[in-house]
Amino acid sequence: MRERTDSLDLGRLRLTSGEGRRLELDVALDALQFGGETYEIQPPVVPAVLDISCMTRGGYALRLRFDASLRGPCMRCLEPAEPAISVEAREVDQPGGGDELSSPYVADDVLNVHDWARDALVLALPAQLLCKEECLGLCPICGTDLNTADDDHAHEREPDPRWAKLSELKLD
Ligand SMILES: [Zn+2]
Ligand SMILES: [Zn+2]
Repeated sequence: MRERTDSLDLGRLRLTSGEGRRLELDVALDALQFGGETYEIQPPVVPAVLDISCMTRGGYALRLRFDASLRGPCMRCLEPAEPAISVEAREVDQPGGGDELSSPYVADDVLNVHDWARDALVLALPAQLLCKEECLGLCPICGTDLNTADDDHAHEREPDPRWAKLSELKLD
């Protein structure tokens, strides 16, 4: 395994104004908590491409790209799922540029790659993590996995027999 990069000293690249650099990094990603479940990142160290350009007015424009898969239960059918996520994130950090041009991931020219990659992955997540886009989920009545159930899986609209028993009880 190549060496992982958690933080990167942008100043040490000694870029001159207007100059750009593309770096290939290995970024470690922690498991995520989502919808009360834990999702492991596969692979836990992902290859990422970081584009850095030194802006003419000082500071940096940054772009980070990587692909990762999350491994955990499908939010509809609870079977194992491994949705793949493509992440592309941008940051600008310009000293004296005010809040809008100040990146929370850059301090003293050091880029916190680890935190940026984690947050960018969270922002790129779909609303639901599914085993497949067309997952049918579980039957709301009996809990059967509808992906593997018969095509004609259905329930009679008969009252539940337990209710029939209850109605036999004399409440007085
Ligand atoms: Zn599913
Ligand atoms: Zn059912």
